[in-house]
Amino acid sequence: MRKVVTKFGGSSLADAGQFEKVKNILALDPDRRYVVPSAPGRRFKDDDKVTDLLYRCYRQREAGEDYQDTFDKIAARYMDIAEELKLTVDLGAALDEVNERIAGGANADYCASRGEYLNGLLLADYLGWRFVDAAEVVRFDEDGNLDAETTHCLMSERLADGKPSVVPGFYGSLPDGTVHTFSRGGSDISGAIVARAAGADVYENWTDVSGMLMADPRIVESPREISSITYQELREMSYMGASVLHTDSVFPVHRAGIPTNIRNTNNPDHPGTIISLKAPVSSSVPTITGIAGLKGFSVVSVEKAMMNNEKGFGRKVLQVIEEEGLSFEHLPTGIDTMCVVVSGEQLEPVRQRVVNRIMAETHADTITVHDGMSIIATVGRGMVHNCGTAARLFSAMSRAGINVRMIDQGSSELSIIVGVDDKDYEKTIRAIYSEFVN
Ligand code: ASP
Repeated sequence: MRKVVTKFGGSSLADAGQFEKVKNILALDPDRRYVVPSAPGRRFKDDDKVTDLLYRCYRQREAGEDYQDTFDKIAARYMDIAEELKLTVDLGAALDEVNERIAGGANADYCASRGEYLNGLLLADYLGWRFVDAAEVVRFDEDGNLDAETTHCLMSERLADGKPSVVPGFYGSLPDGTVHTFSRGGSDISGAIVARAAGADVYENWTDVSGMLMADPRIVESPREISSITYQELREMSYMGASVLHTDSVFPVHRAGIPTNIRNTNNPDHPGTIISLKAPVSSSVPTITGIAGLKGFSVVSVEKAMMNNEKGFGRKVLQVIEEEGLSFEHLPTGIDTMCVVVSGEQLEPVRQRVVNRIMAETHADTITVHDGMSIIATVGRGMVHNCGTAARLFSAMSRAGINVRMIDQGSSELSIIVGVDDKDYEKTIRAIYSEFVN
């Protein structure tokens, strides 16, 4: 028998109607035996997410304000679901306990985690499945970092009997038992942890979109969906800000070789996007898998005649960058120039000091800082060992009248990265997309 771990996001469990959809999806495939729920999300555009309301309760209590109205809103969300689905779980008692703990000074993580906890209780009752409290099986160390191996052992042990189970996402506990959460959107990570521990054949991540798109739909009109992508390609895309998953959710499943399938709860017949270790490379695979990018980088350009003869030049430059707390994104170099691409926002407060220090360390001829550069990555396993992709990409940019400020391609040939002026960001993405896709 296969094992499928399903994680349902907040919009997939926002009300009783969505709970019914989830139950139907689970009933369609008996291999779906583990569910990781998020807290109820938005039911309509300006609705509140329960997690946001829980954080609000915490802040109001901290500020000495009355948080009861906010808590009542939260309670009503769960009561509506429980009543509509005729659940038997003692929700009143669970809500009272949460309310008392908040009043008694519970920390922000405890407050926020109750969104998933309560939703998990309801879902387990609705499905007739076992409820596993994540605080007992997901462990963090004293610094709040996931203790992956202890968690893996505890979770595998708990799920070893193969009983269908509901494990709420987003939280676990510190060594002293205090509840601790991942960062926002962290139920994706919980789902991946459960998938690894259960030895799943696939990790299904159910959300409200039918998979990843080849480009940002705010820039390209109706971009195509990505049917399959490798974890490595996903890493390149999400580094550039494009992903429907929490970035840390990739590690547990990637390492275990478990594919992730992004699916749409509101359109369950759609196959979604499959993320796997090795996606097929064949003539039907498009040359490019996707395009992603970010604006607002600065380029620190250091020039010095005959710098190639100077041992340790690069180290001196990078040491200053490191000591000033900056991380560099790219390092394009010329014969007598070395450029360091950093986030413009990070550079701003230390800009003058960085320039002065690099000058003092390297005795450069000139140092200039160019702001407002966008970086765009065109990603695709289809371009590996494939001639002509770069030529097509740069021709498309040239036809669109875009000046290329930087080029970077790693030897993996998995992506071609270009730097352009921020004003050309959208134009570049459209030009590349229409060259390769339309
Ligand atoms: N409920 C949490 C959040 O809104 C975690 C999650 O949904 O993944 O961030």
